[in-house]
Amino acid sequence: SGELHETPVSVDRKVDSPIHGVTEMLVGVLGGGQLGRMLCQAASRMAIKVCVLDPLEKCPASEIAHNHMVGSFDDSYTVQEFAKRCGVLTVEIEHVDVATLEKLEQQGVDCQPKASTIRIIQDKYLQKVHFSRHAIPLPEFMEIDDLEGAKRAGDLFGYPLMIKSRKLAYDGRGNAVAKSAEELSSAVTALGGFNRGLYVEKWAPFVKELAVIVARGRDDSVLCYPVVETIHKENICHIVKAPADVPWKIGKLATDVACKAVKSLEGAGVFAVELFLTADNEILLNEVAPRPHNSGHHTIESCYTSQYEQHLRAVVGLPLGDPSMKTPAAIMYNILGEDAGDPGFVLAHRVIGRALSISGATVHWYDKPEMRKQRKMGHITIVGPSMGLVKARLNSIIKEEGSDGA
Ligand code: ATP
Ligand code: MG
Ligand code: MG
Repeated sequence: SGELHETPVSVDRKVDSPIHGVTEMLVGVLGGGQLGRMLCQAASRMAIKVCVLDPLEKCPASEIAHNHMVGSFDDSYTVQEFAKRCGVLTVEIEHVDVATLEKLEQQGVDCQPKASTIRIIQDKYLQKVHFSRHAIPLPEFMEIDDLEGAKRAGDLFGYPLMIKSRKLAYDGRGNAVAKSAEELSSAVTALGGFNRGLYVEKWAPFVKELAVIVARGRDDSVLCYPVVETIHKENICHIVKAPADVPWKIGKLATDVACKAVKSLEGAGVFAVELFLTADNEILLNEVAPRPHNSGHHTIESCYTSQYEQHLRAVVGLPLGDPSMKTPAAIMYNILGEDAGDPGFVLAHRVIGRALSISGATVHWYDKPEMRKQRKMGHITIVGPSMGLVKARLNSIIKEEGSDGA
């Protein structure tokens, strides 16, 4: 880390020609994965220039970004060098060197959302403490340092017990479930042991998982996207349905909780709020992402303003766009990787091939340098006149792969 291999493009803090008043600033994005790629796609359409910082020479955003600096977003020197070239810094991943962002902010560098937000979010335990202080409903949780502590938590919360790693979690990779006290030790080991920094959550007996994307502009204006339902398989997002099929009152409650959570954090951008709906119609917050999110991919085709365009508008200080849906229903399906090698690609190509002949379907392929089991390789969004119809169309695309339908 700390090594800089730059694409030879000259970049100043400001692009020469001012475009629509405020967007002459270069937007620096920490991370160049699929979210960074889709940010670049939205930026390109609006003539906003985005630079990405990512360690992979061939990351999903690299071919679309105005400039790609090859380096680690978790390395202080690299982040500081990157910041020098950008008018505003934002993130597509929260696992960045936040201490350096704080230092840069003190020196006057513009970070959106604020470093304070990244600090809270990137440590899931701190995040839980923060939201409980702000009276946001959450599953009960507790820090654990050793097996004794884990057993005490199990006695208190019962089983199954969710054990989570505080940091560097994504796609469920920092989660382990203990079905009984006997399983605590192996669950902890699976997460890399107590030194990794663990905490536990009471099992949330949800009937549905919901998500709300909240956008906040630099002027503190706030807009919410329609509530969606997210369906996970083995802790990883599988399907998103927009809008969620929930009574109006539940939708309102979910939106209110999401808004309140985001208002407790600082800075501009889009924020995704993951929620549990319980059998007795309670809404509990799972976690917040301070950036565009998998649950908002569908907005590219289904909403007047996509989450990606909205994030850019927010961080550069343009007015926020209309987040409402321009189609009655949308469904999003993640194309997950298989073990490395040709069979995975053949499978993905078959799914994509079928999607290409389906009305209302749009294929997104992230062009990741290699395939891995359960890695997000691409997604398909289908829009249409009803949820029944888009569901049926999705099932006709994925059924032959033995994948659970929608
Ligand atoms: P992401 O990719 O969304 O960042 P992550 O690795 O941060 O995922 P979580 O969001 O904490 O993981 O959990 C992943 C999934 O595990 C949730 O969407 C939910 O299905 C399940 N889950 C998480 N916490 C609990 C809980 N307390 N009780 C029951 N299920 C849970
Ligand atoms: Mg997460
Ligand atoms: Mg999550």
